[in-house]
Amino acid sequence: MKKVLAVLAIAAMCVSVAQAATGSCSGGSATGSFSGSFVGGVGWSSGSSRTISWSGSCSGCNYGPAVYGWASSPLVEYYIGRGGGTSRGSYSTSKGSFTLYTNSCNGPNITGSGPFTQYNASGSGGSGQNMGEHFNGWSSLGRGLSSQNYQVVAVENWSGGSGSFNISVSGANWYTLWIGSGSASLNCGGGGSTTTTTTSGGGGGTIVVRARGTAGSESVTAFGSTWTLSTSMSNHSISSSATSGTVCFTNDASGRDVQVDYVVIQGSTKQAESQSYNSGVWQNSKCGGSYSEWLHCNGCIGF
Ligand code: CA
Ligand code: CA
Repeated sequence: MKKVLAVLAIAAMCVSVAQAATGSCSGGSATGSFSGSFVGGVGWSSGSSRTISWSGSCSGCNYGPAVYGWASSPLVEYYIGRGGGTSRGSYSTSKGSFTLYTNSCNGPNITGSGPFTQYNASGSGGSGQNMGEHFNGWSSLGRGLSSQNYQVVAVENWSGGSGSFNISVSGANWYTLWIGSGSASLNCGGGGSTTTTTTSGGGGGTIVVRARGTAGSESVTAFGSTWTLSTSMSNHSISSSATSGTVCFTNDASGRDVQVDYVVIQGSTKQAESQSYNSGVWQNSKCGGSYSEWLHCNGCIGF
């Protein structure tokens, strides 16, 4: 049970938003508004060990204003001042003790789309973060970053609804805006005039099923899509706004079995081995059981 709860906590933290715009933001301050899921931030296109100071607020946000960034080696998305995920240990900073949590995510990222790791540094996340202390702390836990990407003070909403925000970051000159479902705007002020407003397609969504077959001829049907597996683990993407469903093996024969690693539903990763409904696994001398990646018989895993 403990393991299942941990996986649910992980799934809640991976948000499916795609990078919509980046650009210069002279003066380092911005205002904006949103309806639906988004991330907007002001900072720097290259992360460093700088100390980051800011002011601002967001009405209707789930996160921020607070530090948010990416590294490309390893591919990591990080948040300073929130928890969620698997604990990797604690470290000290001049703002007190932090605990590093990590999540495995799969979806839009700075390289396009695919798997990445999310770091959540839980502690006092307010203005005045010394990023060198965080990076050193992560290294001490075996989670160091070798290649920084961008680094901003961001606001984020993932729970629907609308709101508005303002952010002012000392010395910053760049912005990023990610959109999920809905729309958002970010307007840089303070001497610049950069304005961007981006609207997503709205209502659409993506589901990714990661699976393989033992023979390479197994047929799978899930979320309205039918395809044939290969013998190596690979991702199959489906355009669907569904938030739950089944992955079914339909042509069982001698030598054919299906291994499902996980399904990403609207940005939430759901491991097959954490699902209680599995009508195709061979357990206790019959077809059907629970908590397995395997479909040995014709049957389905419920997600
Ligand atoms: Ca798995
Ligand atoms: Ca079989």
